Amino acid sequence: MRNLKQDIKHILDEGKINMPVEVYGWVKTFRNDRFIVINDGSTLQNLQLVIEPEDYDEAFLKKISTGAAVRAKGELVESLGKGQDVEVQVKELEVLGEADPETYPIQPKKHSLEFLREKAHLRPRTTLFGAIMRVRSSLAFAVHEYFRKHGFLYVNTPIITGIDAEGAGQMFRVTTLDPLNVPLDEEGNPDYKKDFFGKKTNLTVSGQLEAETYAMALGKVYTFGPTFRAENSNTTRHLAEFWMIEPEVAFMDLDGDMDLAEDFVKYIIDFVMKNNAEDLAWLEKRLLDEEKRLPQNQRSELALRDKLQFVLDNHFVRISYTEAIEILKNSKPAKKKKFQYPPQWGMDLQTEHERYLVEKHFKSPVIVYDYPADIKAFYMRMNDDGKTVRAMDVLFPGVGEIIGGSQREERLDVLLEKMEKMGISKEELWWYVDLRRYGTAFHSGFGLGFERIVQFVTGMGNIRDVIPYPRYPKSAEF
Ligand code: ATP
Ligand code: MN
Repeated sequence: MRNLKQDIKHILDEGKINMPVEVYGWVKTFRNDRFIVINDGSTLQNLQLVIEPEDYDEAFLKKISTGAAVRAKGELVESLGKGQDVEVQVKELEVLGEADPETYPIQPKKHSLEFLREKAHLRPRTTLFGAIMRVRSSLAFAVHEYFRKHGFLYVNTPIITGIDAEGAGQMFRVTTLDPLNVPLDEEGNPDYKKDFFGKKTNLTVSGQLEAETYAMALGKVYTFGPTFRAENSNTTRHLAEFWMIEPEVAFMDLDGDMDLAEDFVKYIIDFVMKNNAEDLAWLEKRLLDEEKRLPQNQRSELALRDKLQFVLDNHFVRISYTEAIEILKNSKPAKKKKFQYPPQWGMDLQTEHERYLVEKHFKSPVIVYDYPADIKAFYMRMNDDGKTVRAMDVLFPGVGEIIGGSQREERLDVLLEKMEKMGISKEELWWYVDLRRYGTAFHSGFGLGFERIVQFVTGMGNIRDVIPYPRYPKSAEF
């Protein structure tokens, strides 16, 4: 078996001079018929292999080019060149798989992100995507670690759901009916009784409703799984398939929910700062280089790691929706009529408003709570004013809304009335209503869009670049 311990990371971290090594990787560059730089994904760092050209014939040397897979056996030695402390003096080299330089698309030069999206199967070979994906993986691990440390149970809610509408967004239908021959019922509508599940089914937009049932038995639970939205949003912050983390806690009110959200987000950011320092340093430098091309006033005020540290060091500002609208109404852009949507009580906050609050007014992450009931989902707890609900959104610089959460309506009569008013079927959600019949209690939770936090931490401008195979309108290649 391959010695799984001998990846480049391990060799660089713990290797001793004169140690025999056997390494595998993909060629980044090959120069002077002598220096082969390889990477194996275990770290941002590359490893330099040094060969004696005389040991190989020309045909063999031609096989070594960017993208080729190689195996090398040799000895770890101090490097005389600059750029690396150690290198491998190769005694045995094998080219496992060539990469034709005429057609291999990932050359050692800067490629545009748009180009790399078309080559999404090979973009993980770039330094950039290696860094992003290592950060993504660490964040996912930190999510599980945080909840485990705090006694939460990991529950897996269904991906195929019988819930047809809950207000979170358009759904993708799941069906095995033949589109050219859909069975019809007496009224001429598709007869879903004949469908695979004997009813209409969709891909889930959120695991929350099912997670609530588990929280109301096991106390503290969370889900972390894929969710799907069929909206036609072609933005830099929306995907049709994204991963969501949804904790749900019994006997917790909205204040506790906000505390949890803040503590949780800080924990996972801190984890990555500690465990992915190299990746973050590289991503930070990349951003600085990118921004050099921009005029001074469009550059970030803080470098990437300073921005992350800033989030860790400061309390998130908490303001009510009503206060937020007041601030927006009195803002410079409102007075100069610069907002596309003039702020007024009752409207949903638009990205321009969220960005103003976070980036201009407070210059800090902001939690907005107590939104108008009419613009929020049916399950959010009604306040005594009869107009607002116990909802909260966490807003971050650059990416806007990163978390949406609420205290859930636990009063049976209030919930039923709300469902009636919003046209949510109590027959379909009978089991959700049951929770309010049997042992109901106040409880709260939230949803964190995983890709949004990966975007924030890596500083990537487009959400399509922080998930291996992005799904968005008219795009499901790979
Ligand atoms: P937005 O207003 O940004 O479209 P939303 O209010 O519709 O989001 P929620 O239903 O509150 O979203 O979902 C919870 C979280 O999931 C959001 O705070 C966000 O981080 C993330 N999220 C929502 N929609 C998407 C999407 N299409 N792609 C990626 N992440 C998303
Ligand atoms: Mn939301």
